[in-house]
Amino acid sequence: MKILVCVKQVPDSWAEKKLSPAKVLDRESADAVLNDLDEYAVEEALRIVEANGGAEAGHTITLLSMGPERAQEALRKGLSMGADAALHIHDGALAGSDALSTSRVLAEAIKKEQPDLILTGTESTDARMSVIPSMISERLELPHLSFAGDVQVDISAGKVVTKRMTDEGVEAMEAPLPAIVTVIEKINEPRYPSFKGIMAAKKKPITQMSLADLGIAPNEVGTGGAWSEVKDFALAPARGAGVKVVDEGSAGSALVEFLAEKRLI
Ligand SMILES: Cc1cc2nc3c(=O)[nH]c(=O)nc-3n(C[C@H](O)[C@H](O)[C@H](O)COP(=O)(O)OP(=O)(O)OC[C@H]3O[C@@H](n4cnc5c(N)ncnc54)[C@H](O)[C@@H]3O)c2cc1C
Repeated sequence: MKILVCVKQVPDSWAEKKLSPAKVLDRESADAVLNDLDEYAVEEALRIVEANGGAEAGHTITLLSMGPERAQEALRKGLSMGADAALHIHDGALAGSDALSTSRVLAEAIKKEQPDLILTGTESTDARMSVIPSMISERLELPHLSFAGDVQVDISAGKVVTKRMTDEGVEAMEAPLPAIVTVIEKINEPRYPSFKGIMAAKKKPITQMSLADLGIAPNEVGTGGAWSEVKDFALAPARGAGVKVVDEGSAGSALVEFLAEKRLI
């Protein structure tokens, strides 16, 4: 079985982020890391392989990322967790790509790779659109099982079975392979790369791909090919100091009044 995991490099979730004058995220203003939510997808791929006989049984995990040169650092992190190889789509014309272009590029790479199972995170922690997996599914006409809190692959039956976790409850889902599965953060606890894993990752192959390799014209992507444009932006207002209730015998009713005013009770 060939598993492909889509991973994105994002600015560190804890760092203060800035928008550049061109109205895009200033990616140089913060440290770049592997999207936290994609670590769960890498971990789940490793667990699926381990549960099905390991690499000895012929199963492989390939990471796929579209991003600038330094996105390779995120790929190395995934490789040090245990993935076997990586594909890096890097092309100057991709700068400013919106979700439609990003999904197009990733879909073309997936079409070339022909994996049995595609795993992704639920969202990137920077743009947070949560649309890329559905867009890929639509483009490739593959089933998409979203919000998976449990994933089991039945190789002999050629299907993937998931538990879809929603606010309303848990739904049992299944789809024939190949399929796309989006995992939630409750699904597992991603492993820390071991020293051996970090050393091994240095020798694992990262294959570079350009737009030409994928048969995509430069004007179909990037800022010029984007269907959406950031017209304006404003910083969220700073938080106020809040309301302090001092107990002078009537704090209980003051709290109730406050909550009622805010329509919280
Ligand atoms: C007008 C406009 C301009 C933009 N300009 C830029 C820009 O200049 N530079 C820039 O970097 N972004 C830019 N973006 C943001 C960019 O379009 C999104 O980052 C991209 O579409 C992916 O969406 P997302 O991050 O919300 O992914 P989501 O849909 O939230 O991601 C879900 C999952 O899809 C997978 N995934 C998402 N992106 C990738 C990827 N690149 N590689 C591999 N897997 C992935 C991951 O598994 C992730 O967990 C721009 C957006 C708009 C609307």
